[in-house]
Amino acid sequence: LMQLFRPLDMLGWVYRSIRQGLIDMEAMFGLLDTPAEVVDKPHAPALSVTRGNVRFEGVHFGYDPEREILKGVDLDIPAGTSLAVVGPSGAGKSTLARLLYRFYDPTEGRILIDGQPIAEVDQRSLRAAIGIVPQDTVLFNDTIGYNIAYGRSEAATADVEGAAKGAAIDDFVKALPQGYESMVGERGLKLSGGEKQRVAIARTLLKNPPILILDEATSALDSRTEQAIQETLERIARNRTTIIIAHRLSTVVGADRIAVLENGKVAELGTHEELLQKGGLYADLWYRQAAERVLEEAAEAAE
Ligand code: ATP
Repeated sequence: LMQLFRPLDMLGWVYRSIRQGLIDMEAMFGLLDTPAEVVDKPHAPALSVTRGNVRFEGVHFGYDPEREILKGVDLDIPAGTSLAVVGPSGAGKSTLARLLYRFYDPTEGRILIDGQPIAEVDQRSLRAAIGIVPQDTVLFNDTIGYNIAYGRSEAATADVEGAAKGAAIDDFVKALPQGYESMVGERGLKLSGGEKQRVAIARTLLKNPPILILDEATSALDSRTEQAIQETLERIARNRTTIIIAHRLSTVVGADRIAVLENGKVAELGTHEELLQKGGLYADLWYRQAAERVLEEAAEAAE
């Protein structure tokens, strides 16, 4: 009978390995269509992150040659600071993050980390330096511990629990009847949007990257959950170079700087106060969303 099971076991192992390889891409931006393969130059050296400075220099890009999305983006994100990218839907905010992770290469211009063009370095070393908290987290039909350690099956239990604490999900997990061994996913416990985000934050803490991309959730969390998640994110962003892809403005106030992307370029750049005073595009967006938020909160309070 064992002989019968061994190949099945192998199959399970192969399946898990493949799944782990794929997850990075999928979880990242929820991309269903696999992007064209970006190939390393022969003997590409490993990226050496000394401080974590990120620079976009005259970056042009379009998914389709007929439609350019980014038309010369210049951005300098000093090491350890945060930059929030805002702008109308479809402006190319997530595209900037995909280029930094090198899912695609710019058609013109370049991106540098600590002075090294990312197109010249080994992809694996690039991706090891960047952590992403995606909009939507993919959960496997496995234990919550496995889901937090995701792809790092060698991670020590203490490290997994430490990351869970940092993501403020440890208490929740410990209160489950089976703790870290509780099954989640379609065939297990269903996690809420906020809990799933915390799993993503814990994964990132375990990776401990110097550069962070936070792709803000578009799906609405209630305002109290959103605020709690926001506090956790601010804590993990400290001392890391952080790019926040902001689909709403409520979360960008605390960023060191805000870039407003419009028509493929950085139209405005500054702190929240500076941009409000300027009375331009950001100020318009801000007042409009602030009014919407007041209405939403009033509706929540009335429930
Ligand atoms: P939102 O705030 O709505 O998420 P965004 O500013 O993040 O928007 P992107 O996701 O960067 O926008 O998309 C920019 C443009 O590129 C959009 O017009 C989008 O339709 C297009 N686009 C995005 N991904 C692809 C793709 N894989 N293939 C072709 N076009 C794409």
